[in-house]
Amino acid sequence: MNALQAQLREELAQLAAAGLYRRRHAVDGSHGTLLTVDGRPCVNFCSNDYLGLAADPRLAQAAAEALSRCGVGSGAAALVSGYNQEHAGLEQALAEFVGRPRALLFSSGWAANLGVLRALLTRADDLVADELNHASLIDGGRLSGARYRRVGHCDLPAFQRALAAARERKLPASARQPRAFVVTDTVFSMDGDLADLPALARLARRYGAALMVDDAHGFGVLGANGRGAPEHFSGEGGIAADDVDVYIATLGKSLGVAGAFVAGSQELIDYLVQRARTWVFSTAMPPALAAAARAALGIVNNEPERRRRLFANIARFRAGAEQLGIAIGSPHATRGAAVGWEAITPIQPLVIGGAARTLALARHLFEAGFWVAAIRPPTVPPNTARLRITLSAAHAPAQIDALLEALAEGCRRCGVNAGGLAAPAA
Ligand SMILES: *Cc1c(COP(=O)(O)O)cnc(C)c1O
Repeated sequence: MNALQAQLREELAQLAAAGLYRRRHAVDGSHGTLLTVDGRPCVNFCSNDYLGLAADPRLAQAAAEALSRCGVGSGAAALVSGYNQEHAGLEQALAEFVGRPRALLFSSGWAANLGVLRALLTRADDLVADELNHASLIDGGRLSGARYRRVGHCDLPAFQRALAAARERKLPASARQPRAFVVTDTVFSMDGDLADLPALARLARRYGAALMVDDAHGFGVLGANGRGAPEHFSGEGGIAADDVDVYIATLGKSLGVAGAFVAGSQELIDYLVQRARTWVFSTAMPPALAAAARAALGIVNNEPERRRRLFANIARFRAGAEQLGIAIGSPHATRGAAVGWEAITPIQPLVIGGAARTLALARHLFEAGFWVAAIRPPTVPPNTARLRITLSAAHAPAQIDALLEALAEGCRRCGVNAGGLAAPAA
């Protein structure tokens, strides 16, 4: 064994000893609500397929039709020869859907966040970011070289202090006016709470900063028509679509496909086409995926009952958990989060704390026929390991009831005091 192997082996052993070793489980067949994993059927309660579209045959049909017409690969980056009518059509449909002038497709949300932040910010600029933002926003911010101001979760006064500090910063002469960006997830991916976008938009405006939001878990779900967090916050005292300067959402979650897009002004998209390196230097997504995403968008538009079913499922799950004394919710102080988020977020975490017990509970659930992944550090902060339970429009009420029963039994067996979760200090 060479030196690298030996080192890695030791580090892996340490991870395993701490209950932090992770492994994959290959699904056999489609990734719907009912799936087969390790040869056993189980009900999936941890995917991001909130509307139940990932295994919808209409998406597969749209993809198959485009596959037979366009083949599989795009063959190049979009600026070279990889841009297809399917991409152009999807971009236009997405821009219309979210009410912005233009949209630009990326091959993943990760690529979009890295590409956008690196393109728009330099060392002369300031980035004011919620501490629980998605890893891709953190990496993109670091890569940009901007002064990274990490702010407590949903802590509006801290956002304000950071913006004030950014304005005071003495800057070396630079080619343009320095920028400040406020960057946040809308629905936080491991906690499920929702940033107060109207408050953040007001702060950003007051300090002359731009607002960038990652709506990976809100797009397709929130708002009267599923248009995402900006629609949810529209209306009296809320925000307008163009209060969000840079809007990012993914196509791999509620839309059930893969990829992502950035929506915003004509100028923003034009600029990203020139400068976003993860877009310029990356092969365009297969046209068939764009066709599938367009079909999914049509379903989001035409079948609002999916969102109604999702919200009914969320309510059923929460009521059942409460009855059983199982405390669902974020372990973080969420004072500054938008009011009422608990009822509309498909992400309903059960925070256990220790990694080993969380794993044991996840294993118990799997034995009982439910797949709920144990989320452990470093994905979440130390001592906040959790079951990230997610609901979908495709779950049947009986499946939710059965999950709750198995959860209660599992908590008993694994010694989890699910009702007495101490909320860690704010
Ligand atoms: C999933 C996710 C991403 C990454 O998107 P991918 O398309 O999976 O790369 C980015 N931001 C948030 C908030 C996410 O939840």
